[in-house]
Amino acid sequence: MKAALMFGAGDVRVVEVPDPVIQKPTEALIRVTYACVCGSDLHPYHGLADTPEGVSMGHESIGVVEEVGADVRTLVVGDTVIVPFAWSDGTCAFCRDGVHTSCVHGGFFSGAQAEKMIVPYADGTAVVVPAGTDESLMPSLLTLSDVYLTGYHAAVRGGVTAGTTVTVVGDGAVGLSAVLAAKQLGAETIILMGRHTARTDLGRELGATHLVAERGDDGVAKVMEITGGLGSHAVLEAVGHMPAYEQAYRIVRPGGTISRVGLPQYEDAPVGFGSLFGKNATLTGGPAPVRAYLEQILPQVLDGTINPGRVFDRELPLDDIAQAYRLMDSREAIKVLIRP
Ligand SMILES: [Zn+2]
Ligand SMILES: [Zn+2]
Repeated sequence: MKAALMFGAGDVRVVEVPDPVIQKPTEALIRVTYACVCGSDLHPYHGLADTPEGVSMGHESIGVVEEVGADVRTLVVGDTVIVPFAWSDGTCAFCRDGVHTSCVHGGFFSGAQAEKMIVPYADGTAVVVPAGTDESLMPSLLTLSDVYLTGYHAAVRGGVTAGTTVTVVGDGAVGLSAVLAAKQLGAETIILMGRHTARTDLGRELGATHLVAERGDDGVAKVMEITGGLGSHAVLEAVGHMPAYEQAYRIVRPGGTISRVGLPQYEDAPVGFGSLFGKNATLTGGPAPVRAYLEQILPQVLDGTINPGRVFDRELPLDDIAQAYRLMDSREAIKVLIRP
């Protein structure tokens, strides 16, 4: 089969690899029908050391079940399934707590940018899309494997409810998803911090009430002005770099919450009096347990309440994966849909 492998920074290629085979009775084999490139794929794209054997890429997928292991109960051959970016058994203490990304049998996918993929703990992991679902909904359904529900997780962890003032730091696909999620959860004021107009325009359509293009001191001043000097109840940080975190603790309202879903590219961050402690601010967030939300949000996509697939502004065949990475790295594309 064909699969995208990364061989070093800036070097992603589609190569021929052996077809994956089911090795455990709890696994399923799927033929990937929709995948995409994630902002987090750009981290190795920038920094991966030369790797002659290649690293398999991709963790967001929809596929059709081709084969199931002997113990798989909820999936049958021919089902179309959404596969979250992390697998989980659905039964352990952490899964029951809704923290599926910490499942004791869990792990994080790579290899979704390929024609076929093995889904471990298929019953716990994959969610079936109802038969007959319109093909045009697939991009939005694909966002339930990661990007929309990552934004949703940011909003949930941020305590966003009706009437809340929310600031989203970052105008990438996750930030835009967080805007949409905050609106769904009833936020009244939604400030989007970002400076790429194609993205902030979409943010406006998805629910942002204010846009702040400035960064640093000017950005902080702008948010404080919009919030009447109070700051934001929830700051949803969807970038992962230190300046975004610093922005977040400076604009969070006393008693408010910073919710991070941008994969932190730093190990140390201030938590003392000048950042979190003095404001009684809560710091939360982490890898989104999208499986915990998936079945609840699925109907909203199926009935058209939300259309989170709008973050996909380009579509390319798997063969053109190198171009997909280039477009996202150069910010010419917000998020690229891949058709294996
Ligand atoms: Zn992702
Ligand atoms: Zn578990």
